[in-house]
Amino acid sequence: MKPNLRSGYITFYKKDNKKIKISYISILLIIIVMLMLIPILENTIFNLIDYSKIDNRIKISDIKVRIEASNVKSELYVGEEEIEENIEPIDDGKKYVALTFDDGPGKYTKELVDLLVKNNVKASFFMVGQNIKNYKSSVKYAYDNGMEICNHSQNHKNLKNLSKEDIEYEINSVDDMLEEIIGERARYYRSPGGNQNENVLNTISKPCILWNVDTRDWESRDTQKIISKTLKEVDDGDIILMHEIYKTTLDAVEPIIIKLKEKGYNFVTVTELYKIKGVPLENGKIYYGM
Ligand SMILES: [Zn+2]
Repeated sequence: MKPNLRSGYITFYKKDNKKIKISYISILLIIIVMLMLIPILENTIFNLIDYSKIDNRIKISDIKVRIEASNVKSELYVGEEEIEENIEPIDDGKKYVALTFDDGPGKYTKELVDLLVKNNVKASFFMVGQNIKNYKSSVKYAYDNGMEICNHSQNHKNLKNLSKEDIEYEINSVDDMLEEIIGERARYYRSPGGNQNENVLNTISKPCILWNVDTRDWESRDTQKIISKTLKEVDDGDIILMHEIYKTTLDAVEPIIIKLKEKGYNFVTVTELYKIKGVPLENGKIYYGM
């Protein structure tokens, strides 16, 4: 192939040495026609492919929905239930922690709630059904004072050892009681002892909230140890585990709040903590704080 610039031709040689001359203008015309044909060809190819037969395809409409969701909010479809959570994290430079109280309600619940209210603190309570039936007014009292009421099972058994039906009973029966007392079911559960497996996670259609600061209050039963262990381990975004049934824990709560407030911490419920951090909570998953 020889481009002949002066004459405006490109010359091709066939096998028998015969020349074929093509003018620049005709090459230009061919290119223009090809460019015009591209959209038509593209459409034809798309129509020829039967997308209904292709699995795992990504539809443009899906991508559009995902992009819109990531800009504004996330829409999580968990089973048939739809949970909408704002996933925009609040970056105000403040530190946040969630105090969580397990194994109540009990004889200290109202006193604890008063103490939290006095210090302008909101906390989450993981309550046991067996105790709820004896302290219904304490559940209502905590709820009415802005505390978050969560599900810690009916009998505080190791859920890993139970059948699907028994796990469902452990959670649903507590939710039924809560619905009767405070008019709503728990958004979250905490498996007793934090014991978990796939069966438990798949059976309970709620997020499982565990912890990342364990005060070991049930073990030490020592107010000073509870305070120092908490202050030493706590960090922004943490979930602190305590048990509201011990006087030693009750006595540790106010000093912990005061010290942590001095260090710039704000106390929020589990729901608020995850909203602030921009993490949507999904059913059947475990959350330990951040
Ligand atoms: Zn417990």
